[in-house]
Amino acid sequence: MGKFAKILLLSVCVGFLAVKWTEPTFDAESLKGARVLVTGASTGIGEQLAYHYARFGAQIVITARREKVLQQVAEKCKNLGAQQALYIAADMGNDSDPDKVVDFALERFGGLDYLVLNHIGPVPFGMWEGDVEHVRWLMKVNFFSYVQMAWRALDSLEQSRGSLIIVSSLLGKLSSPFVAPYSSTKSALNGFFGSLFHELSIKKSNMSITICTLGVIDTETAMAKIGDLTIIPAYPASDAALNIITGGAKRAAEIYYPWPTFIATISKDWFPSVTNFFIQHAIKYDP
Ligand code: NAP
Repeated sequence: MGKFAKILLLSVCVGFLAVKWTEPTFDAESLKGARVLVTGASTGIGEQLAYHYARFGAQIVITARREKVLQQVAEKCKNLGAQQALYIAADMGNDSDPDKVVDFALERFGGLDYLVLNHIGPVPFGMWEGDVEHVRWLMKVNFFSYVQMAWRALDSLEQSRGSLIIVSSLLGKLSSPFVAPYSSTKSALNGFFGSLFHELSIKKSNMSITICTLGVIDTETAMAKIGDLTIIPAYPASDAALNIITGGAKRAAEIYYPWPTFIATISKDWFPSVTNFFIQHAIKYDP
């Protein structure tokens, strides 16, 4: 190995160790009594988020549309150790429900430490066939309601040195077939909250924003839709939820779960043809 290559390798190793050394560690105690609002918490990753926060002894409000299911999740949260577990049914496709949910949490807890925006409206998996109305509706549920809730909670999060956590997707960073409406809502989230992150940083704001880029996760909904159609492995929802929570608690700007999603986002720019080939062959499709 030449002298230059050795110096380069050594610098990379030193840089990596320096980053790891100075990285904040996760303090589970910091979540005890924390006031948390989780959306889309009746099933999937949101449900797992609720259970983890409960185990850490947080006070939580959970929301989704199905009240009966929320009631069961809240009951389980109490059994797992949540200091409080409240629920409120809401449809994020309604204009007033996003504000209603944030106001409920602010009134009950007197403020918020974590706002975890995670819900998504149901989406088909297939060729886009021109349903513009569905794209408009999905934008409302998956994007505009996030913006509305974040704005409503901003002052409280600022006061509590709190954290806004946005659950996004690899499909918000790179495009893939059969998910055009979903992908567009996730790209919008990345753009909007990426910009807000910078604004808060240059304002020296107290609050943090964590954008979570997830790969394929084994939730019931995702597996029912793509389980048999993709060769990409699915990762456990409970692990995904724990990574989201620790990333938010460490005030990380971004998290990637599982780690190959990070490689995928880099490879899209560095090796576009290879990435495109892989994307188009990762899904079983017989025209
Ligand atoms: P999921 O199992 O389908 O859960 C979606 C949640 O949103 C449910 O609690 C659902 O409850 C709620 N919801 C649906 N429509 C709603 C509406 N109109 N108003 C309010 N709540 C509504 O989803 P998931 O797979 O756990 O995904 C969670 C997050 O992870 C999403 O942001 C998703 O984009 C992201 N993600 C998931 C994967 C994956 O492979 N699973 C991959 C990348 C990113 P109700 O039906 O009771 O309303």
